[in-house]
Amino acid sequence: MTEARPLVLVVEDEPQMRRVLRLTLESNGMRYTEAISVREAISKIRAQPPDLIIADLALPDGEGLRVIRAAREDSSVPIVVLSARSQESDKIAALDAGADDYVTKPFSAGELLARLRVGLRHAAARASGESPEAFTLLDLRVDILQRRVTLRNVPVHLTPIEYRLLICLIAKAGQVVTHSELLRAGWGAAKLDQQHYLRIYMTGLRRKLELDPARPTYLHTETGVGYRLSAD
Ligand code: CA
Repeated sequence: MTEARPLVLVVEDEPQMRRVLRLTLESNGMRYTEAISVREAISKIRAQPPDLIIADLALPDGEGLRVIRAAREDSSVPIVVLSARSQESDKIAALDAGADDYVTKPFSAGELLARLRVGLRHAAARASGESPEAFTLLDLRVDILQRRVTLRNVPVHLTPIEYRLLICLIAKAGQVVTHSELLRAGWGAAKLDQQHYLRIYMTGLRRKLELDPARPTYLHTETGVGYRLSAD
């Protein structure tokens, strides 16, 4: 980032929505720039690479997915989709295309800002080139160097697959991780179509990490899409 205030490109064709986003971003320490079509978005991304992109999916000259793919060709800029489409298949398509997260309209400013901050934090961590040595959240501590998981200072024994799933979620803490990403992390490509394995292992992880597995503090279900580890 060249400036302390991150530059956010909003790709959105509805003027009212752009106004709300501009106000929300600028009153929260971010710089705002906009594009109202796929074509304009792609040219702006190349001319002045933003620090973060908020992308609508339905644009006048095509699908927002094209913006995501074009941005992903040469950059790991955080991309948050903001769309009225709430179907699981739309969310998965956007995440598979390279979006980091997905917020459904109508949105709460608080939720959107939280997702943006998570995206910026992950980008800053990538830019620093340092891989995290530990992850701590409330009572949970994962010492990544020593492969040690503790809960309220008591060691938790995870199976190798459970541990790989947890590390995959930690790498994207605060962001949704799709079923296929988790299956790949846990089992490699072999079980990509076998979501019931994932469900069984996530149930196991919750039983080991959550005080009340039915009302999880750490591991949240994103119905039909994947899981999200709390970031704070
Ligand atoms: Ca639209």
